[in-house]
Amino acid sequence: MDKVDCVVVGAGPAGSSCAIGLARKGIKTVLLERGREAGGKNVASFVLFTDVLRMIIPEFEDEAPLERVVTDNSFICLFNKDFLEFRMRFSDFSEKRSAYTAYRSKFDKWFAQKAEEEGVELIRGVLVTGLLKEKGRVVGVRIGNEEILADVVVGADGVLSVVSRDSGLYEDDTSRYKLGIKEVLDLPPEIIEERFQLSKGEGCIKDGWGYPLSDVGGVFSLYTNTDSISIAVFAPIDSIRQGRVNLRQRLEEFKAHPYINSLLIGSSLREYEAHILSDGGRLKLKRLYSDGVILCGEAGGFMSSTWVGVPPAMLSGLKAAEAVALAKRRGRYDAESLSCYADLLRQTGLPRTLYNARRFSNLIVSLKGEQIEKLNCNLIRLTEDFTLGEIDFLSPGSSPMLSRIFDDFVMEFLPKYLRYPLKTIVKSLANLLVLIKKVKIRRSV
Ligand SMILES: Cc1cc2nc3c(=O)[nH]c(=O)nc-3n(C[C@H](O)[C@H](O)[C@H](O)COP(=O)(O)OP(=O)(O)OC[C@H]3O[C@@H](n4cnc5c(N)ncnc54)[C@H](O)[C@@H]3O)c2cc1C
Repeated sequence: MDKVDCVVVGAGPAGSSCAIGLARKGIKTVLLERGREAGGKNVASFVLFTDVLRMIIPEFEDEAPLERVVTDNSFICLFNKDFLEFRMRFSDFSEKRSAYTAYRSKFDKWFAQKAEEEGVELIRGVLVTGLLKEKGRVVGVRIGNEEILADVVVGADGVLSVVSRDSGLYEDDTSRYKLGIKEVLDLPPEIIEERFQLSKGEGCIKDGWGYPLSDVGGVFSLYTNTDSISIAVFAPIDSIRQGRVNLRQRLEEFKAHPYINSLLIGSSLREYEAHILSDGGRLKLKRLYSDGVILCGEAGGFMSSTWVGVPPAMLSGLKAAEAVALAKRRGRYDAESLSCYADLLRQTGLPRTLYNARRFSNLIVSLKGEQIEKLNCNLIRLTEDFTLGEIDFLSPGSSPMLSRIFDDFVMEFLPKYLRYPLKTIVKSLANLLVLIKKVKIRRSV
């Protein structure tokens, strides 16, 4: 193959978005995908937050393979047999059609086709094995014994990116890796709508933590597709290794929880997938480009603190395309010329996303599994006591909620030198409030 302007490695959300951006700027682009089809390596479904895609393809709703429009969002704290669920339905969210459920295998294929329609050459079934370099500068990619020369290579090859490793940009930190296990379970649409209180075509997302993952600091998610339900559990690889945890077994325990089981009853397994994902914000902006190479999507650590990765992947892909176009105008693809990528990213919310993701990831890594378990347990106990307290007609005293909240949530996590002075103040304040309440009750009733 003749030398091309740009090779994009990986036809996931980042790669296809970047390729579309490049083609629209008239840059001759080859998009390489190891799967037989784009999305072929991703079997399960996902939640597609739409603002970035809407910007790239405004009419996507007419043609993209979408499942349900997300109208309901819940957060669940799961605890042995019990649970707490905060359910939200924002009309603004559903009217703007801010999120859909969709299958990655269908969606990625469709999105890569859109890149082809823009003039990108998509080559499927090719595994990039390394980078070609001349005097330390990236000049193309290696595919086994074959080579493709390019002015610039875009690494959009996901979390285990060959491009980021081979270019020397990547700093490995496996403590920020998670293993995710997903299942898609078939269930008729009418049952989904009745069970999850949804109208036709509406969908819901339920995310949460707690049982049976609290000891490993894991999280779970459940969402509805047209005629199936996706469930997933995630946990940091380090704690899985240290605790010799069988995550597949934990998924079974999750499914057997009385509440979760009541949502899944009657369903049957369609497909199953295990995948690595990383916490976001692992790389600094200046580590996203070098001579002849630029990273976007998960290859560049673009992931939100809540592990929403597709929109940041698409947006970073677009910005990488803009950076390549500016570099082309200058006629230079060295690191200095590609550094405009960092400036372009700063015009978006992505640096904030990376910062928040890194801070959240540090917090999770610093929290021990038992602390998460205790936090969850205290939350359930407090809510239970508060709810049952209101129907406790037999005892005269009211429980000092303020000092309970302080004991269960603040004391657990405060540094020792602050605990005791604060505890004395809060206890006295709590007792005073209980006293005031008693006087008020006596006066008013
Ligand atoms: C279980 C799970 C659930 C998730 N759920 C959601 C969700 O609901 N919503 C959301 O927004 N995000 C979700 N994410 C995160 C999201 O999947 C990623 O952040 C997103 O896919 C990143 O896009 P990308 O294009 O950077 O990488 P990828 O989607 O990983 O795409 C990389 C592409 O490159 C190809 N490739 C890799 N290496 C090579 C190579 N050497 N040569 C050629 N091709 C190669 C791959 O086959 C793939 O097609 C989830 C992640 C996991 C693991």
